Amino acid sequence: MAKIFCVANQKGGVGKTTTTVNLAAGLAKVGQRVLMVDLDPQGNATMGSGVDKRQLALSIYDVLLESASVAEARVKSDKLVQGGCSYDILGANRELAGAEVELVDVERRERRLKQALAEVTAEYDFVLIDCPPSLSMLTLNGLCCAHGVIVPMQCEYFALEGLTDLVNTIKQVHANLNKDLAIIGLLRVMFDPRITLQQQVSEQLKTHFGDKVFNTVIPRNVRLAEAPSYGLPGVVFDPSSKGAQAFVAFAQEMVLRIGKM
Ligand code: ATP
Ligand code: MG
Repeated sequence: MAKIFCVANQKGGVGKTTTTVNLAAGLAKVGQRVLMVDLDPQGNATMGSGVDKRQLALSIYDVLLESASVAEARVKSDKLVQGGCSYDILGANRELAGAEVELVDVERRERRLKQALAEVTAEYDFVLIDCPPSLSMLTLNGLCCAHGVIVPMQCEYFALEGLTDLVNTIKQVHANLNKDLAIIGLLRVMFDPRITLQQQVSEQLKTHFGDKVFNTVIPRNVRLAEAPSYGLPGVVFDPSSKGAQAFVAFAQEMVLRIGKM
């Protein structure tokens, strides 16, 4: 049965999508069966996996509105298959922005994704959900079905402050909607060890959160930033780059942690 993880941080541009697609590719590379769910109307994780969001016949929007099942809406990416790190994709595009409004009067609307995923979780080892930069109903749907949250963060001055809101939301969801939910870990991303402040914040994180901080650190690496314009995760685009290697190491760390869950 798959373990389900949300990649979430309400702050924009912190590396959620980069983490989701590269962890998905890294897990596929080490032999795990993965479904990647794009829960962001920006559709960046969809495009970054080699699927054109404008060409999607069915998407997560149809799944949330119960007009399609996950099995009907998921797709594969030829580029990922060619790259030898294939995972399934439940894609998103702008249509998804409407779901929030359309579900407003629906009962148990925050559980739509959980219900839909239940039909396919036996087929996967991991389900990874790329959340939008907000604590919206979409993110809530992700948190309701997850076993854990992976929080990518940059080691900058305000990083810890932003965490408080997320931690409080996760506590509320845990108390009211999903007893399984926990923060699996904080992932330090875009890390530059030459910057003293980043080292200091990294140490602070370890002091505050202990073993909730992943051992793997993702460096700032231009190949990871270039990869999306080729419709590929960095892990597939340039496997020998420092960024790709870090994400494969992170995938291995996740597999080990899950063994202990
Ligand atoms: P949003 O909140 O808009 O969804 P996000 O949290 O998903 O953003 P990303 O899109 O993953 O963030 O990353 C933001 C930008 O930083 C992108 O241009 C991405 O290519 C770049 N980036 C992410 N991680 C790295 C890295 N380790 N090294 C260099 N660039 C990176
Ligand atoms: Mg994103």
